[in-house]
Amino acid sequence: MVDRTKTLNSAAGLTLDDWTSLLKSEGHPNFRSRQIVEWIFDKRISDFSQMTNLGQPLREWLAAQFTASDLETVMVTGSKDSTRKFLFRLADKRLIETVLIPANQSMFGEKSDRRTLCVSSQVGCAYDCKFCASGLAGFTRNLTAGEIISQVLSVEQEAGERVQNIVFMGMGEPLANFRNLSQALEILNAPWGINIGARRMTVSTSGLAPQIEKLAQIPMQIRLAISLHGATNEVRDQIMPVNKKYPLERLFQALEVWRENKKQKITFEYILIEGVNDGLDQAKFLANRCRSVNAKVNLIPYNTVEGLQWKRPSVNQQKAFLQVLIEAGVQATLRHEKGHDIAAACGQLRLQEETKEGTIAEAAIK
Ligand code: SAH
Repeated sequence: MVDRTKTLNSAAGLTLDDWTSLLKSEGHPNFRSRQIVEWIFDKRISDFSQMTNLGQPLREWLAAQFTASDLETVMVTGSKDSTRKFLFRLADKRLIETVLIPANQSMFGEKSDRRTLCVSSQVGCAYDCKFCASGLAGFTRNLTAGEIISQVLSVEQEAGERVQNIVFMGMGEPLANFRNLSQALEILNAPWGINIGARRMTVSTSGLAPQIEKLAQIPMQIRLAISLHGATNEVRDQIMPVNKKYPLERLFQALEVWRENKKQKITFEYILIEGVNDGLDQAKFLANRCRSVNAKVNLIPYNTVEGLQWKRPSVNQQKAFLQVLIEAGVQATLRHEKGHDIAAACGQLRLQEETKEGTIAEAAIK
């Protein structure tokens, strides 16, 4: 529902039902809500003064209540045929990253014949995965549904192309921002909204078991990816503090609930870090875990992060790990990415820029 005290919210974060009830309470007829979403999502007009069929008083009222867009483009890296990374500034000056992966490039294992957008769900992250740049400066805040949707609208406008897949694999833990995530999923999926099929949207989580169970209740065939990165509690505990709260036994209970509700294959993301989780014994444990819930695996060689000690294993070791999974009958791919230099680990670009701008206190960066 609409929080009318928040004048900073972007109009792109409201559902058709939100508009209907908001406009009703302001004494406007029902059909106005359709007209507004048509301007925003169909005609892609965010400037209220151009919404000519609404009438002057309503246009002025809208302009006073909502921002036309909450993202300012700070930097775009990469070229049209490669992965492009967008750095956006939010109304409160914070920075977020969004990555556009062109068709026929592999984003996570399989090549997709569709353009994929990797969106952020929070500024920073509270989960403190030891290998990840996003968590280095800590957690600042959740993104609003409008800020999530605006990433799609802004990239589509900048790139002049429609996005066909959405992955919640940018900065943040989407399931820790459940309300805004589900609002955004509704708008992304709706025929009156961005109109992307639910099967083309993937939510990735570090493993928040209760929220996975809650997400399983949403009547949409969205896909689930788990950042597993360790097949035993011993290994996962070392690199993902969330595992202490929701150890693998608890996580896998939630995956059973997901399977029961969605009847689709789950994806495990597994970054390979030298000497930490790349042993062939881990590959065997991982294969067993995959078989237990019918999951497939995307192996991702670790991207080094400045200031962190972790390294990616040799190509031979990566291949040997993959081979164990394949021999065990598990569907698995190994990512050989190209956009590595710019698509680098999520959160890195933002970390550099916020540090430069002094948006993050230096002391917060260990
Ligand atoms: N918090 C959610 C969404 C982030 S997705 C999650 O954990 O799933 C971002 C993915 O990139 C996660 O799988 C994360 O573990 C991975 N990642 C983070 N840092 C990385 C790095 N340096 N190299 C490779 N992958 C990394």
